[in-house]
Amino acid sequence: MDNSESLSGGGETPSRHAARLINRLDRLARAADHRGGLNPAQRDALRYLGRANRFSRSPAALAEYLGATRGTVSQSLIALEAKGYVRREPHPRDRRAVTLGLTAAGRAVLREDAGVALLAEAVAAGAGAEAATLARLLEATLAAAIARNGGRAFGICRTCRHFRADAHPATSRPHHCALLDVPLGEFDAGAICVEHAA
Ligand code: SF4
Repeated sequence: MDNSESLSGGGETPSRHAARLINRLDRLARAADHRGGLNPAQRDALRYLGRANRFSRSPAALAEYLGATRGTVSQSLIALEAKGYVRREPHPRDRRAVTLGLTAAGRAVLREDAGVALLAEAVAAGAGAEAATLARLLEATLAAAIARNGGRAFGICRTCRHFRADAHPATSRPHHCALLDVPLGEFDAGAICVEHAA
């Protein structure tokens, strides 16, 4: 590698060097995020809503996932609703609450996610066959950062201790959530959840 970023000069620890690399990669992806008239905060909100299950698409959960204030998230949601990418829907369990959903236009924007595409291409080029190993290391790094901040994991539903696979066979929602006592479909099983427990 002839890139000066490969040198952790000045006696910098490998951990700090890795942290700087992650930070620089994030900056590059954020620059790409500005394409198409959205800012990075709005892009992050769309990404979350595209991955979160129906119990987790609230402004409060979004703010917690992003580590942002409710006010910042509210501004992003107002902009995304005005652009026609997000809509408010009745909450599945609480009549007084709303849940957020992507419109067809919002899903189309997510499919052309320039920031994530840039990073995915860079990972493929830089890590090659070690991409899966890199992903595992980053998962562990993210989990450590979340634990240090005292935040929620927002893990994938099928890895949750409340997930019961195939509890309702031959139905459109074959799985079950033992915490919320609701059936779960395949999308739910692969979605992230604010209530996830390892
Ligand atoms: S099983 Fe866990 S992750 Fe899935 S919906 Fe229930 S609480 Fe959320």
